[in-house]
Amino acid sequence: MEVVNGVFKVEVPTPFPVGCVNAYIIEGDPVTLVDSGPNSEKAFSGLLQGFEQAGVDIARLSQVLLTHGHTDHVGLVSSIGDEVEQRGGKRPSVWLHQNDHHRVIRHEEYTRKRVRSYIEIAERGGTPGEILDQMPYEWLVDRFISFGKSIPDVQTLRDGKVFETGLGPLRCIWTPGHSHGSVCFVAEEERIIFSGDHLLSDISSNPSLDFDRSSDIMMLRYLDSLLRLDKYKDYQAYPGHRAIINNIGSRIRELQEDIIEKLDKMREALAHTHQTIYALSRQIYGNYGLDQIVLALAETMDLVRILEANEEAETVEIDGVLHARERVSK
Ligand SMILES: [Zn+2]
Repeated sequence: MEVVNGVFKVEVPTPFPVGCVNAYIIEGDPVTLVDSGPNSEKAFSGLLQGFEQAGVDIARLSQVLLTHGHTDHVGLVSSIGDEVEQRGGKRPSVWLHQNDHHRVIRHEEYTRKRVRSYIEIAERGGTPGEILDQMPYEWLVDRFISFGKSIPDVQTLRDGKVFETGLGPLRCIWTPGHSHGSVCFVAEEERIIFSGDHLLSDISSNPSLDFDRSSDIMMLRYLDSLLRLDKYKDYQAYPGHRAIINNIGSRIRELQEDIIEKLDKMREALAHTHQTIYALSRQIYGNYGLDQIVLALAETMDLVRILEANEEAETVEIDGVLHARERVSK
């Protein structure tokens, strides 16, 4: 579907609960692709069909700009490069923020590490044994490895890098949160932002998904990065999933309010009692399914860490399981 002169939105199917990923073909010189879809036959044929419908020869594709390193956005990139070469084109250059680079150059190795951290957060959060039994390490690893493919020739970009495209110059702005290396690409002439998963129209950006015990609180990084978009609030955002966003300013406010509400819920949940992260996640996020458990625990952990940093809560580890409680001032 042509969303603006020479820009085509392709809804590429994924096996994830989120549904399709949006890839964007920018016609012109050089032909540019923003994000790709996961590594699957269905996704590949969906993307090829998108090029056909747009009337753009994929052999002319010369650069792929990636909004972040999650497999549903980058998994197809290697196959696309092969396809371009097979059709007589020159392998396109591929660009990703330096902070997400490590996750795509050796996909399998990275996936094993990441799945290990998923199981760790589930165990440390106090997830009941019968649920942990449904998340066997090898099964998860095989599943997640299948969605991606390494991109050994990916090049790194930094905040401020500018790409020439058919839409005019596209400038990269670094918006860490959803992942450490999440970026948006801004077309100032056309007043458009390719927002990746940093800004989505009707679902959360999962700002804690890239949790890492040693790193900053990702939810706070995310809130800071939301503010970076504020000066583009009268632009249109082309996101990584779902519908185009026409009112960036009000969407930013909704997302900020959502986190403030969750913090309030957490304060209530912690009043006069101490609980495991898992038990708290059930109070804040309700009856979520197995495929949402890591997300729910990671966000719960971030909410607790924010209150802890604010001296409103404290955590204690009992038999390897993290409990949180209200911090009562002396
Ligand atoms: Zn993502």
